[in-house]
Amino acid sequence: MPNFDYEAPTSLKTALGVLSGNGENRPLAGGTDVIDQLKNNRRNADLVVDLKRIPELLTLELDEGRLRIGAAVSCTEVHNLTSENDCFPALSEASELIGSIHIQNRASIGGNVCNAAPSADTIPALLVHEAIAHTASATGGREIPLIDFFAGPGQTVLQKGEILKELVLPVPSSNTASAYLRFIPRNEMDIAVAGVGSLIEVDPSSNIVQKARIALASVAPTPVRAYTAENFLEGSTIDNPTIEKAADLAVEAAVPITDVRGSAEYRKELVKVLTKRTLNICRERLA
Ligand SMILES: Cc1cc2nc3c(=O)[nH]c(=O)nc-3n(C[C@H](O)[C@H](O)[C@H](O)COP(=O)(O)OP(=O)(O)OC[C@H]3O[C@@H](n4cnc5c(N)ncnc54)[C@H](O)[C@@H]3O)c2cc1C
Repeated sequence: MPNFDYEAPTSLKTALGVLSGNGENRPLAGGTDVIDQLKNNRRNADLVVDLKRIPELLTLELDEGRLRIGAAVSCTEVHNLTSENDCFPALSEASELIGSIHIQNRASIGGNVCNAAPSADTIPALLVHEAIAHTASATGGREIPLIDFFAGPGQTVLQKGEILKELVLPVPSSNTASAYLRFIPRNEMDIAVAGVGSLIEVDPSSNIVQKARIALASVAPTPVRAYTAENFLEGSTIDNPTIEKAADLAVEAAVPITDVRGSAEYRKELVKVLTKRTLNICRERLA
């Protein structure tokens, strides 16, 4: 492991001051990605700044029609809250898939987002639930719709000294259902070959889809939304032919690579299957 300095500030102001200083200053939340990356020289750091003692980054609140997830809140805490109140099923499912129980206890949702892996499991769930990334830096903060947060594999639009402060999600109406599924060759502890999050909101009187969101993981350099499929679903009723067609259209958003985990064609087929399955789960949840 290369040498680096380490600081664990207890105030956001101090952390932002330290992070904006000279050199390669890298935030650490759970460390489940970044420690391995430093060890293997895939990232470097002069200074690692531990965010896990900063109260603003540990906020987890569900009130006033929104869910606020502090950037350093663990996957376990998010899973526990979202599974209790049942408003964000896709996020509840995705946060329970990360690694193992030990990893989920340590890893943050914010770290999953900022690591910006195309395969990250919580990102499609956050995207279908329309998360906004609130950032902070020594000179101010920004609110960035999560779909605009990613710049490439492992890259975000965060500037030097800027961190993710929290993710804010609107509480969906009671006529909304969501789901997240991924495919991995093993039962757990693997990276998604493809992942799909879906969300459907229906008009309860007509059963017509008012809002549809579909987001894909592991099939493009960044997580992507399947806009054509979403547009097709909105205004339709959810039946088998509609779901079949939406699944076909979702594939249009996928521009996968072929690698050791699967060919591009295989990944496209997975997008079709997983879209169909997540939409069917949404339909069952709405019944
Ligand atoms: C055994 C194992 C299994 C795993 N399984 C999965 C899996 O199934 N699915 C999956 O998606 N991932 C998986 N991961 C990857 C990892 O656990 C997740 O990405 C996790 O959510 C990262 O969170 P963290 O808090 O540990 O991030 P860290 O490692 O602390 O940080 C990750 C990156 O984000 C940056 N960062 C962290 N917080 C902030 C912030 N607030 N602002 C700006 N930058 C920040 C760091 O500098 C670093 O570059 C696995 C990892 C391991 C070791």
